[in-house]
Amino acid sequence: MEQGRALAERLGRIRERIALAATRAGRTPGSVHLLAVTKGFGASAVRAAMALGLNEFGENRVQEADAKIPEVGPGPRWHLIGHLRNKAKRAVALFEEIHSLDGESLVAEVGRRATDLGRVVPCYAEVNTSGDPGKHGAAPGAALRLLERARLEGAIRLQGLMTIGPLHGGPEGARTSFRLLARLRDEAVAAGLLDRDAGLSMGMTDDYEIAIEEGSTVVRLGSALFGARA
Ligand SMILES: *Cc1c(COP(=O)(O)O)cnc(C)c1O
Repeated sequence: MEQGRALAERLGRIRERIALAATRAGRTPGSVHLLAVTKGFGASAVRAAMALGLNEFGENRVQEADAKIPEVGPGPRWHLIGHLRNKAKRAVALFEEIHSLDGESLVAEVGRRATDLGRVVPCYAEVNTSGDPGKHGAAPGAALRLLERARLEGAIRLQGLMTIGPLHGGPEGARTSFRLLARLRDEAVAAGLLDRDAGLSMGMTDDYEIAIEEGSTVVRLGSALFGARA
């Protein structure tokens, strides 16, 4: 089927580029995980990706995910990658992991809802490394405090840090952002706020190779994989 073949070709090229970027940075390709971002695409795109062996999917809105996840059915692991407003309860029920823990009140809310459900949620703390005013996430100077706060929640397991590269600024702007996130991760590890093997969720379609060169452990790819969103 046409859709499946196009997807297989894109996935093959992405895997090659991930491997090359990792190798350039002296890393093993297996240290970079691919999160397939299906926002704007339906359950059939998820199934086509599953048929190619992909198992980790990202959505940025609870409402869209709430319709899609039951339609897809059991199998994949779902990650929330977008800002949460007032749907923390639903999010904790739907998603295995949350990449967008972006403030102290959300930490408290996710902690409470996860405790209610008797589960421990792996989370990344989001940092606004670009200073773009429209972006969510802790300011770089407040990132360690956000981690300190999250560590008080027994139902949150900190996986690392997450960021979205700058909207403008080109490759060098992206590199500056990703380098800052890696430095904050190192500082948090040194301060005992993150485990030594803590990850970095960074890199999207336009900047994932740079993110890998700067230490990304999870690249979140939508249009590179599924094509342009409508
Ligand atoms: C949409 C989105 C992505 C994927 O974006 P692409 O440019 O399509 O790869 C990754 N991360 C977040 C937080 C997103 O909202």
